[in-house]
Formats: sequence, structure tokens, C-alpha cells
Amino acid sequence: MTAPRLTADSLYRFFRAGEEETFALQGVGLQVEKGEIVAVTGPSGSGKTTLLSCLAGLDEPDGGTVHVAGERLSHQQEHLRSRLRARYIGVLFQSGNLLEHLTVRDNIRLVQGLSGSADRSGVRELLRDIGIAPRAGALPRQLSGGEAARAGLAVALANNPAVLLADELTGEVDGETERRVLALLRERARAGTAMVLVTHSRAVAAVADRVLRLRDGRWVR
Ligand code: ADP
Ligand code: MG
Repeated sequence: MTAPRLTADSLYRFFRAGEEETFALQGVGLQVEKGEIVAVTGPSGSGKTTLLSCLAGLDEPDGGTVHVAGERLSHQQEHLRSRLRARYIGVLFQSGNLLEHLTVRDNIRLVQGLSGSADRSGVRELLRDIGIAPRAGALPRQLSGGEAARAGLAVALANNPAVLLADELTGEVDGETERRVLALLRERARAGTAMVLVTHSRAVAAVADRVLRLRDGRWVR
């Protein structure tokens, strides 16, 4: 496949609340190749989460387009976006990654069922690599912040997605766990997964092929 795994062309996104207008994205472009890890940094409010939401097809940009694996994701009907997301994209946000009434294991099985993936053998190994195998039977509310982040990562990676999008995934984990998670991500990238990792962590930026910086909805050059 020659098309980049993920392409964003000139994304714009603004929010209006009464008289107040916020320009969250002001012409952001991005191209991520197969197996490439791109780290995105930037101060709070610079547009990082908005960018990830648009890249995931969970939010629609007001201008510009997003393509995943050569297919247009933006400005499609919701059911088409959902289908593309299920087929190509694993997403990890800062919260809300797990369904509260399902165990960690069942959360993973659920996403695998949705994508029609038949490969369940890797789940135990995935949980072990991420270091939460002993918590597979726990409900989300029984997890610490760091465990919930890792469980969310397991869900995001469960279908071996072509693209992984993650918002601050190691924000709440200790150094040893972060190293383990980063080793797993490097391995997945070598196997072909393209990644956009929003992060404040220097360790995460250090494993990235490129580090990009957002400020006021624009790349800082
Ligand atoms: P970051 O993740 O870098 O902290 P965000 O993407 O969350 O930044 O936000 C970028 C800007 O857009 C901020 O000024 C934020 O207040 C605003 N914003 C984000 N989402 C919304 C929303 N749903 N409604 C109104 N303003 C929003
Ligand atoms: Mg954010």
C-alpha cells in the first residue's frame, strides 16, 4: 500500500459559545506513514485533543479533510465514519475508553466483536505486555488511573489497528510501566501501525520518529 496511513489536509475547527469564538484548529496538516510514530506536544488549550478527535472521525472539522488508509474519513455519514474507525483506528482518550459495566477483558472482547476480528488469541499476551493481566477481570471503577489508561490502550490495540491515536496515554503511569508500554508501541510500529501520540512525556517524545508542536491551533515551526 502506498497511500499514507493517515492524512490531514488543512484542518480548521472552531467553537462558538454565545459571543465567544474559539479557533481550536487553524489549518493543521499532517501525514503519518505506515510504522511511523508522531508525537504531538503543546500547551493546554493548543488544540491537541481537538486534532485527535478529528483524526479519529469522532469530530468533524469545519474545514479540511482527513483520510485514513486512502479513504476519506471526514464529511462522511456517521455510520461510514464508524465503520472506517472500527476497521482502521484504535483510539485512546484521556477518559471514557472503557464501558463501566464490563470487565477489562469484556471491554476488549466487545471491540473485537464490533470489528469482526477473529483473532482473540493475542488478548492475554497483550494484557501481559501492558502489565494488567491480573486486572483482566476487574471493572473500570476498580482500576487506578494508570491501570485504566493501560486497559484503554489494550482496547485500542486489540484489533491490531493500522492507526493508533492516543491522548496522554502515559500521563498517570510510573517510569517502569511507561518503559514497558513504550517498548510495546515501538514493537507495534515496527509491525506497521502508524501512531499519533499526544504527550508531555519526554520518554514518549524520545521513541517518536517526529515530534510536532501545536500552539493556538497551528504547528510551531
Ligand atoms: P488541548 O487538548 O491541547 O488542551 P483542546 O483541543 O482540548 O486543547 O482545546 C483547544 C481549544 O478549543 C481550547 O481553547 C478549548 O477550550 C476549545 N474547545 C475544545 N473543545 C471545545 C468544545 N467542545 N466547545 C467549546 N470549546 C472547545
Ligand atoms: Mg487535551
